[in-house]
Amino acid sequence: MVFVIAWILGPDVLRDTVPLLVVFAIALGLELQFLVGALRGGARRRVPDRLPQQVDRERYGFAEDDDEETDEVLSPAAPSPFRGFLVGLGVLAVLAAVAWVVEGRTGWSSLDGDTKLATVERLSEEASRMADKDVTVGCDEARDYVGYVQHADGIAVVGGDRTYVTPEICFDLHGLAFEGDVRGSRTGRAIAVLAHETWHLRGESDEGTTECYALQSGVELGQRLGLGEATARRLMAQQLTENRLRGLETAEYRVSSECRDGGRLDLDPAGSTFP
Ligand SMILES: [Zn+2]
Repeated sequence: MVFVIAWILGPDVLRDTVPLLVVFAIALGLELQFLVGALRGGARRRVPDRLPQQVDRERYGFAEDDDEETDEVLSPAAPSPFRGFLVGLGVLAVLAAVAWVVEGRTGWSSLDGDTKLATVERLSEEASRMADKDVTVGCDEARDYVGYVQHADGIAVVGGDRTYVTPEICFDLHGLAFEGDVRGSRTGRAIAVLAHETWHLRGESDEGTTECYALQSGVELGQRLGLGEATARRLMAQQLTENRLRGLETAEYRVSSECRDGGRLDLDPAGSTFP
């Protein structure tokens, strides 16, 4: 719960790196563990003797057959483990509601219709320029195409004219293009995703090649959206490093060794900078 509160009030970096759903899942898991632990422990524990203790019996003279009467006075109902569980659930529900409100005020869904439209138009314009034909970029608010389930931040048909990216990617690109908001590797990732999908629209189907081209084009795309050249290069170089580190888990997306200055996939063989 402390972590959830820190997530709500705390620095952006926490919100950017830890999905709140995970935090709630862990909190719920702990709650269940406490409940199960309490129920098991309760079953194992010996049922306590409800009679007055020997020392009291001696002092106050309770008779052995007096227990029905003394029970009411001396044995209040033990607190049910379910009660603690329900209180915990209630607190989590309140925190979830607060987090939902906070999220609604900070994410893509917090933007008004005109702003969203302006963002989508701007991104479509940049993508069309890169793809060398008219294409449109959609922000998949309903998560019909992209999101947690599909394990992708964007989707595009190879050679098509429409791509969808997640609302998070749209929001980060909006922040960069309209607010000058640079959020480190998160901004780099958003640029790389848009560039990646645009290369698919251009007709490239191989994932590794697409990503290599995307990180090179991302330098110009980043600059067009408001980054300085040095920052744009640094962010794309960072994405390339992350791609190589991730390589083993997602071999399909791994850029090849030709993705280097002077390599077969270098889009600007004459230049000496890469990406
Ligand atoms: Zn792809």
